[in-house]
Amino acid sequence: MKTSGKTSDDQHKIEAILAAAEEECKASNIRMTAIRREVLRLILSHDRPVGAYDILEELRLTRRNAAPPTVYRALDFLLSRGLIHRLERLAAFIACSHTRALHGLDAPRHKVQFLICLQCHDVREICGGEIEEAIAETAAASGFTRHHSTVEIEGICDQCTHDNLHAASAVNLTKRTAQQADF
Ligand SMILES: [Zn+2]
Ligand SMILES: [Zn+2]
Repeated sequence: MKTSGKTSDDQHKIEAILAAAEEECKASNIRMTAIRREVLRLILSHDRPVGAYDILEELRLTRRNAAPPTVYRALDFLLSRGLIHRLERLAAFIACSHTRALHGLDAPRHKVQFLICLQCHDVREICGGEIEEAIAETAAASGFTRHHSTVEIEGICDQCTHDNLHAASAVNLTKRTAQQADF
């Protein structure tokens, strides 16, 4: 599993997010236990979604006796606070990419959508208010009480689209040069 080389800047960012999460829990009279904090730190240290099993494996490097229920309880807590999100299709977790200040009091319940790149596996969290409204209205029109919904959009990200175009024009150029050389 890729933990990616984190710079000290990244480490500072992770510490700042952990501190903000702790503050927020304190304000709501909820305890951010050591294990919850550790699981959040592990997820934050990944740039890509990470599965529960991988989290458990990494946790066991410091807590040899960590058991699956411990991890699942911590994940449930972090999900309920909106600090992480679950990607259903990938059965994996990713840290919320927004600052807590952005969502204010709504942070634990904020609704998200994900753009998943099939090429580089980058996952981007977006907060499209109109998408949520449309889902809520459509569900309500069917008399359906919605508890939870995850919108996951698969495709090719802007960076990969850009890289692909470059690669394609490089191939064309090589082909043309090769054809010219044939004459
Ligand atoms: Zn989020
Ligand atoms: Zn991509």
